[in-house]
Amino acid sequence: MKQQWKVIYSRIKFEYLIVGLYLIIGGLWILFSDRMAANLTDNEELLTRIQTYKGWFYVLMTGISLFILLKIYLEKLRKAEVKAIENDQLKSAFLQNISHEMRTPMNAIIGFTEIMMQSEESEANKHYYLEVIHKSTQQLLGVVNDVVDISMIETGIVVQNKDKVELNLLMDDIYKSYLPEMKENIQLSLKKGQPGKFIYLMTDEIKLKRVLTNLLNNALKYTHKGQIEYGYRLKDHKVEFFVKDTGIGIAKELHSTIFERFKQAEIELARRTGGTGLGLSICKGLMDILGGDIWVESEPHVGSTFYFSLPAKVENEAVAVKKSVS
Ligand code: ADP
Repeated sequence: MKQQWKVIYSRIKFEYLIVGLYLIIGGLWILFSDRMAANLTDNEELLTRIQTYKGWFYVLMTGISLFILLKIYLEKLRKAEVKAIENDQLKSAFLQNISHEMRTPMNAIIGFTEIMMQSEESEANKHYYLEVIHKSTQQLLGVVNDVVDISMIETGIVVQNKDKVELNLLMDDIYKSYLPEMKENIQLSLKKGQPGKFIYLMTDEIKLKRVLTNLLNNALKYTHKGQIEYGYRLKDHKVEFFVKDTGIGIAKELHSTIFERFKQAEIELARRTGGTGLGLSICKGLMDILGGDIWVESEPHVGSTFYFSLPAKVENEAVAVKKSVS
């Protein structure tokens, strides 16, 4: 509401300014042009003709100025209309996507629990059904978490904690949790900027982990064979993290839009691979909160590298380590 008033106030101010300028310039023009004309000649007939031309000149200038202003306003309106339509389409696509993303695991949970309730199944089968149910609930929780996170980021109610994070330990923990998830033909590797040292970073551990896991999940989702490598390096008072894959890659013109809400690089592809289109916008939102940057370098059919950097409030031990290494 406060924001709206600010916009209205600035608009009114702009319109008053234009009208004020118009009146001042018009008044000055009438005043000085009359004096100039009177200085030029005493001939009454010539003076009347000059007054007429002056009047026409003023009308012409007013017309041109009005035309330019109207054109600028109409273009602004048209742009706002296109953006509103695009947002509307994106929201509908998002709702369709999200209901699909929720229904699929829900159906699996309902279906498999019904089978388990009705029939006498072997222990092995029951175990398999339970695995499917467990995976589906996790998938469902992921969707709910994404929606809750993005709405919290958008409403600005996310607080930043300051934890003392040991980078190498965090990287190792993530490695251990992702290793069992790897497909057969994908190799996971971890590249630490300062291996074997204690590198402490003062940041929000949960948010940092969330960004890393979102990027690793995407790497896994969009890579069918090859390598996924992730890690960090210390660079100019910053820690630069990366997640690199040899997956399908992303066309250059989409490199910035994929960080926007609801955008999925290729809708068709999204339908096949699933996903809400919120993962990267959550990463971008979290980076804004943590005071960092996130960007991508990618080539279709070659692979993608997602980078994000955080201000390195690295503790003394790490600075000492850094000095002794360099
Ligand atoms: P989701 O993965 O749920 O669709 P994201 O916000 O995480 O949403 O990603 C947005 C889009 O960016 C994806 O739909 C996909 O097209 C593209 N993308 C993200 N990560 C990768 C990656 N590692 N390789 C190729 N494309 C990717």
